[in-house]
Amino acid sequence: MTDEKAQTQEFKLDPDCELRFEVESKNEKVTLELKSGLAEVFGTELVKGKKYEFIAGAKVAVFTWQGCTVELVGKTDVSYVAKETPMGLYLNCHAAMERLREAAEKEDTRGPITMVVGPCDVGKSTLCRLLLNYAVRMGRRPIFVDLDVGQGHIAIPGTVGALLVERPSNVVDGFSQQAPLVFHFGHKSPQANVALYNLLVTRLAEVCSDRLQANKKARVSGIVINTCGWVKGDGYKLLTHAAQAFEVDAILVLDQERLYNELVRDMPDFVKVVFLPKSGGVVERSQAQRTEARDQGVREYFYGSRTPLYPHSFEVKWSEARLYKIGAPVLPASCMPLGMKAEDNLTKLVAVTPGPNLLHHLLSVSFADSPEDDVVQTNVAGFVCVTNVDVDRQTFTVLSPQPRPLPNTVLLLSDIQFMDSH
Ligand code: ADP
Repeated sequence: MTDEKAQTQEFKLDPDCELRFEVESKNEKVTLELKSGLAEVFGTELVKGKKYEFIAGAKVAVFTWQGCTVELVGKTDVSYVAKETPMGLYLNCHAAMERLREAAEKEDTRGPITMVVGPCDVGKSTLCRLLLNYAVRMGRRPIFVDLDVGQGHIAIPGTVGALLVERPSNVVDGFSQQAPLVFHFGHKSPQANVALYNLLVTRLAEVCSDRLQANKKARVSGIVINTCGWVKGDGYKLLTHAAQAFEVDAILVLDQERLYNELVRDMPDFVKVVFLPKSGGVVERSQAQRTEARDQGVREYFYGSRTPLYPHSFEVKWSEARLYKIGAPVLPASCMPLGMKAEDNLTKLVAVTPGPNLLHHLLSVSFADSPEDDVVQTNVAGFVCVTNVDVDRQTFTVLSPQPRPLPNTVLLLSDIQFMDSH
């Protein structure tokens, strides 16, 4: 069936219902407009009469507490209205967190620190977004922490980070990424370097705790933490480590009862572990879609989404690049210098010789002034991508949001590659 002209669909939603739609086909755009009533997308209220444009890859739910009429223009691959949603349960979580914030405000203590866990594709990131939006709509200023290195909602994949949320997320693009605090991990799964992952989580927790100390509004509002979908075996240990590092008060477990029971068993009594069903609307992504979402995140970093960005491209001499990666191969204990553990190697800064091996790799630009500083635990300013390597001239070309120069900055090599197709 072909339908070339833009199609218009109108939906009348009863209270507590949601319209779910997906845009799949490349180059397709779908515009959403609220015609009457009140509605929200993952906790952000829609403005009546405003047109929101979604591109390929978008999987959206328009929820209404009061009832509304919305219109979609363009080709959607899926669009239906669901009456069954877990939104009431999610709202209860928000209400419980809000009560803790009120108490924290009165007693000048810390607000709730909440971690969202569950396997892949259960709506963890979406629940975080919802809770943060509801909080900020009540005038709170919570911190959003993202430990999911696979997608990296705060910066790009291969990083962990934190963000002070000061306004609801954009309906189309998510949270504004102004002044995030980001650390370089360099892989798309924590599995690639568990020691480094735990080190960065501990560091991020320290920095967040300092920020809460310094800012009463943030302190009362608390933290919402998103995590990876790796929940078995060593993945589970990462979750319990993160819970400890951030001193969480509550863990919201999406979808998996086994994980819920393990956490109830292993967490101290003062940590409230809550089981929540996943929404029937959450779409399972294939490996290819996950990769595409990762690429899309990087593309948006360099080229923008709604407002286009114009990145710079310039050459860097091999001799001028101060290039490093984190983690050397683990040696057998017998080969380690006295007093060092084999694990220490995994969090060591290692110089990298530039060459063709850099092609298409992302590099993080460290805030550290010199490799003698604690580069591993220093946050990063931004990212560049190697788009060409010239062996004859001993240079490489980078795509960068900032104009040159790069010399004198410490660059950290990521395992993650991005093919610039612009
Ligand atoms: P996770 O973080 O657990 O991997 P996400 O929160 O990223 O899962 O959700 C996966 C996808 O499902 C996202 O593209 C999100 O936009 C979509 N999604 C989440 N909730 C809904 C819903 N209620 N209706 C439609 N799509 C949804």
